[in-house]
Amino acid sequence: MKIDKLLSRYRVEHGKHFHLKDHDPADTHGLGSELKPQAKELLADGVKKLADLQDILAAQDRWGLLLIFQAMDAAGKDGTIKHVMSGVNPQGVDVWSFKTPTAEELHHGYLWRTSKCMPGRGQIGIFNRSYYEEVLVVRVHPEILENENLPKTLVTKDIWRERFEDINNFERYVTRNGIAVVKFFLHLSKKEQKKRFLERLDTPDKNWKFSAADIKEREFWNDYQQAYEEMIQHTASAHAPWYVVPADNKWFTRLVVAQAVVDALKDMDLKYPTVSREEKAALAKARQQLEKE
Ligand code: ATP
Ligand code: MG
Repeated sequence: MKIDKLLSRYRVEHGKHFHLKDHDPADTHGLGSELKPQAKELLADGVKKLADLQDILAAQDRWGLLLIFQAMDAAGKDGTIKHVMSGVNPQGVDVWSFKTPTAEELHHGYLWRTSKCMPGRGQIGIFNRSYYEEVLVVRVHPEILENENLPKTLVTKDIWRERFEDINNFERYVTRNGIAVVKFFLHLSKKEQKKRFLERLDTPDKNWKFSAADIKEREFWNDYQQAYEEMIQHTASAHAPWYVVPADNKWFTRLVVAQAVVDALKDMDLKYPTVSREEKAALAKARQQLEKE
């Protein structure tokens, strides 16, 4: 099974002709569930590669990597992040979850709170939801926009196009500074969401994951799908691509995400820093000194 070959199927760099209906949430690239054990091995392999690359990323201290996760509820953002990053040194990774903005956050432009959490060089940053909520939940619920305290004259019918433009410019700026940006939309079907909600209701250990608000948002399913489609159409780019990852089968979602992260790191010219001749001489001297003890 060549997982790296299939990635291009899910990667969107040019959104102009992107349509969600062309992407099947249950797609497993023809791999049957009988291949699940093999998928587990492949995932372990991807996780190991990721950990090795992250070690070099940190040592080299030049590049950074931002991973953005967006999805409907129960699509598996948390589980994917947990599994894919399981082998990585926790000191090199920060995970940030963005919820309904606080009063202080609403006092600023919407990129303020996420900008403070951007990964630095040598680091991987993960956004569990992100500034993309500003063209998703805020678009689906216009009353949220009304509460953002923007000057009235700035809220026009162009606001979504303007937000796409600003987000694109922001991502261009950060990538030009050496922070790579990779975005994941975990694409879940409405049917599978129902199944997972019922599981949360029926399994006592999963009850805590259920929130009544999730059922409410489900009523806006079509509006969300429309908002996601337009978001991808306008913000997919070669430097900050979207991966539209089939999310009905968790084992497959994780495999694709792990491979995409490995790929993003491989695209950087990662190498351990080498030491200069003077530094080598100093190392030899240190060795002599230790051996003399
Ligand atoms: P989980 O349900 O797995 O704990 P979650 O990401 O769904 O994770 P919740 O606390 O359930 O977390 O939901 C966070 C909510 O905050 C979402 O409904 C999201 O749409 C909302 N949110 C995030 N950013 C914004 C924003 N900028 N404006 C308004 N709402 C936002
Ligand atoms: Mg939730």
